[in-house]
Amino acid sequence: MLLALALCVPLEGLASSRPVEVHQLLALPQPETPIAALTLDACGGGYDAKLIGFLIEERIPATVFATRKWIERNAEGMAMLRSHPELFDIEDHGANHVPAVIGPGRRVYGITGNPDVAHLESEVRDGAAAVEAATGNAPRWYRGATAEYDPRALRAIMAMGYKVAGFSINADAGATLRRDTIVARLDAVRPGDIIIAHMNKPGSDTAEGMASGLKSLQMRGFRFVTLREMDVRPALAFHPSRI
Ligand SMILES: [Zn+2]
Repeated sequence: MLLALALCVPLEGLASSRPVEVHQLLALPQPETPIAALTLDACGGGYDAKLIGFLIEERIPATVFATRKWIERNAEGMAMLRSHPELFDIEDHGANHVPAVIGPGRRVYGITGNPDVAHLESEVRDGAAAVEAATGNAPRWYRGATAEYDPRALRAIMAMGYKVAGFSINADAGATLRRDTIVARLDAVRPGDIIIAHMNKPGSDTAEGMASGLKSLQMRGFRFVTLREMDVRPALAFHPSRI
């Protein structure tokens, strides 16, 4: 129950073996202030220089969730993120992008999970070590691959001292959406939303869609914070179309 309250995990989700998404909003000091958080996953793959270049140009901060394998393969991208510590906070997305589900044969979107809790702990710990080695800062936040979690995995990650990073607006569905759809999703952003998008697929429409959508949000008076700057709270009621 406490876990459900802390993370807004539906109780039926806890009871079943189906993994759950963690949905959160920013805990705005004053409601309806036009503040949102941008989070970017660097799962594997490449570096979207166009997206990061836009954020630097517009001074838009973001919380980056990077895997060890992304860090190892994208020295140029890491150097660019590190050269703007005032904008980019780099947090833990695991070592090998293994989803936070536990048990032999467990999968999310076809990606194999962890056979046991010890493997999950290694995934989290080794990812954190890679971030710390690359940035000098120990991560405080964890987001699992695919952003889906077994309740048991959530408990294990929190017991290791990490906050689990949810979201409320899925902007690019793993960098698979077309430009106009990304813009439409960002148009739906309201005060306190936590946006998830991807910075590891430079061939996608993500950079273009995000640039256009984020510019519109700026014109509506939005400013952006990292998760280190503001607490989050569970999103208790959610319209399905907003996720
Ligand atoms: Zn990922």
